[in-house]
Amino acid sequence: MRICRFDDNRLGVVEGAHVRDVTAALDMLAKASYPFPTHHLLIEHLDRIVERPRTLLPNARTLALERVTLLSPVANPGKIIAAPVNFEKHREEARKDPQLHGNNPGGFTIHTAGLFLKSTGSLVGPGEGVVVRLPERRTDHEVELVVVIGRRANHVSRQDAMAYVAGYSIGLDISIRGTEDRSFRKSPDTYSVVGPWLVTADEIPNPGSLDLQITVNGEVRQQSNTRHFILGVAELIEMASSMYTLQPGDLIFTGTPEGVSPIHAGDSIMATIANIGSMAVAVRAEGAISAPAMSASSAGA
Ligand code: MN
Repeated sequence: MRICRFDDNRLGVVEGAHVRDVTAALDMLAKASYPFPTHHLLIEHLDRIVERPRTLLPNARTLALERVTLLSPVANPGKIIAAPVNFEKHREEARKDPQLHGNNPGGFTIHTAGLFLKSTGSLVGPGEGVVVRLPERRTDHEVELVVVIGRRANHVSRQDAMAYVAGYSIGLDISIRGTEDRSFRKSPDTYSVVGPWLVTADEIPNPGSLDLQITVNGEVRQQSNTRHFILGVAELIEMASSMYTLQPGDLIFTGTPEGVSPIHAGDSIMATIANIGSMAVAVRAEGAISAPAMSASSAGA
């Protein structure tokens, strides 16, 4: 099932070029009270939430996907975790380019760098777009498969890890290049784009064989396949959960392939991952008028 959040926090099931409005299913969530939970209530109860739309669908309002504003399918994750160098060819391009490796030309690897965290405040959906924070600094696109954690996971082995996955989305890890810590230069508002929807894990039995691509203004910039991961999804969950407990709704950006390049206000990004779909994302200047709702397609690609 493809689950989206759209417009004013409506819950939708995506079918082809349409969204079915199943917001009524959210009635199942317990009302939270102070202190509010730091995990994601919708993802915690996703199994029951996806059952409910099946009964709601016959009478659900139907909207054209291109007419809605798509928000991040996970509204408020407790953590946004990210893998820094998880494709060998991206590691090579970073090693050769001082603008990419910042202050660390020594050939870092994911095994020595570990994972990093992006601010949860950086999260937006494709319909909201990217707002360039520091136009004088090189700012790059990074297309990545995003894993949505479904269950509390602490010290989980790679053999057991896949049982903790709720689903997958496409992510953009927008990155200012420079010498600062990753958590600083990858955390401006709008610099983590997740969408266009969440595809439940049952529809992607092998996340380690997915084509992924990004175009900027129609030009292909990154094109690879997740078979080139250095650490696969299960290994990343093992690594992350060895250091801290993962909670429902936590997001893992799994790393980007080679071909990262600068983006500028006015650019149009299209990011595609097989078995998930495509998402269009507009890049704009701070203070610029928000773009109209961007379209998305569910083409299997
Ligand atoms: Mn990245």
